[in-house]
Amino acid sequence: MGGVTPTLFVISGPSGAGKGTLVALLRERHPGLGLTVSATTREPREGEVDGKSYYFLSDDEFKRRVDAGEFVEWAEVHGHAYGTLASEVSSKLASGSSLVLEIDVQGAFQVKERFPDAVLVFIMPPSLEVLSERLRGRGTETAESIELRLANAEREMALADRYDDVVVNDDLDRACDELLAVIEKHERN
Ligand code: 5GP
Repeated sequence: MGGVTPTLFVISGPSGAGKGTLVALLRERHPGLGLTVSATTREPREGEVDGKSYYFLSDDEFKRRVDAGEFVEWAEVHGHAYGTLASEVSSKLASGSSLVLEIDVQGAFQVKERFPDAVLVFIMPPSLEVLSERLRGRGTETAESIELRLANAEREMALADRYDDVVVNDDLDRACDELLAVIEKHERN
């Protein structure tokens, strides 16, 4: 019946590459796509809601959950811990829809080990200059955090060739069309 297989997608890319905006638009165009809420030890930004943007945990609580084996993957990113809870993945995959994990490169490779059928998609900024402008323009980060994120961006972009697909986010609408085509291609495989 249509031949669509619920698929686990991992979307990574440097901070400022526009992953969040792209995934939000993608979900408008492909409403069946589920999204997990990650846990993190970083402070909430203005407007972020606990349990919606992230589960905001203390260092101790995060560690307790790591030790209890509650994470599918977790990693230190930009000086804080981030992770995907197994409960988020199992409940959403069980509902029969495809799922997107928006996580960093270290987490992506952990997911691929655990779920070999997962599809890894890398969102590439058009250039480091554009990335730098976007991070500064966003106004959510301190100068120190921007420098850290830019240094990490180069390291992450060097790993893009280990992903199944790469989408360059030069223009939001165009990139969303391409990402949607990638998703539909894998769901039909
Ligand atoms: P931000 O602090 O800007 O919300 O996120 C920083 C980075 O953390 C993002 O680039 C994102 O890919 C990564 N991240 C968010 N959630 C997770 C997660 O659950 N696991 C891992 N490994 N990385 C995550």
